[in-house]
Amino acid sequence: MIHVIVLGSAAGGGLPQWNCNCANCRAAWAEHPALRASQASVAVSADGDNWFLINAAPDLRQQIIDNPRLHPKHGLRHSPIAGVVLTNGDVDAVAGLLHLRETWPFTIYGHDRILSVLRENSIFNVLDPAFVKRQPVELETAFELKLPDGEATGIEVVAFPVPGKVPLYLEDMSAADHGFGTEVGDTLGLHIRNRRNGAHFFYLAACADMTPALKERVAGAPLVFFDGTLWRDDEMIEAGLGTKTGKRMGHISMSGDAGSIAAFRDLGVDRKVFLHINNSNPAHIPGSPERATLERAGWTVPADGTEFVL
Ligand SMILES: [Zn+2]
Repeated sequence: MIHVIVLGSAAGGGLPQWNCNCANCRAAWAEHPALRASQASVAVSADGDNWFLINAAPDLRQQIIDNPRLHPKHGLRHSPIAGVVLTNGDVDAVAGLLHLRETWPFTIYGHDRILSVLRENSIFNVLDPAFVKRQPVELETAFELKLPDGEATGIEVVAFPVPGKVPLYLEDMSAADHGFGTEVGDTLGLHIRNRRNGAHFFYLAACADMTPALKERVAGAPLVFFDGTLWRDDEMIEAGLGTKTGKRMGHISMSGDAGSIAAFRDLGVDRKVFLHINNSNPAHIPGSPERATLERAGWTVPADGTEFVL
């Protein structure tokens, strides 16, 4: 069995975003607090007791409070969180690590490109290396998630490069024609599998495009989490919220012939779940035409706290 809890479904900033008064955020601030969503992350467990986070969102403290499975269980100091797997170095994927100081042993798994962000930003040294291990992840090489005492969990992870972009704060403006300095390893997809019973799913919540190879890899999968940042590429510009297209930000849109809904149409994926949904995206709103369109195509937008069991 594999349990996956959606800790947050929103993109960077969350819904509502602290300084935003767009239609979606306005609704979430006031009349419809149920719309509120925290920044994207999931928790994974094979036994229901020990949990591994996929990314550590800045909302992690509240996400732990909201999910009793992640509360301390016994002793004076304890956490069911045994590790964090990082798929990229964006603020919304790594800033939550700072909540995990206070000398609890766990392991951070990440590609060296992402671990270098932690090395080069000394604030992450609050994660005392005597307790918190940093384990480099090799691409396309299966590894098993381990408990802090080294015990095997049976959860196997294969990390592989997916289209994406270097984090905004690392963009090299002199390399605008070459992905702003993006390198292999900056954005990972994850295939997560329970070795003991074969249950498995894919986490592609930062993936910027569906290549033929990626389609082949995920075809027929029982569950895929995929990047749902924008409904359409020019959404931020149209709404007056920004000057960048989705492509420029390293995201594929949900809609359109080149969008993710179209790309997954014939892949036979059983459960298709959007994560990392920007607060500008009309599909956030239950009952909106955009939400109805994605639901008709077999997709879901999960509420924070939704649990999948495979
Ligand atoms: Zn907004």
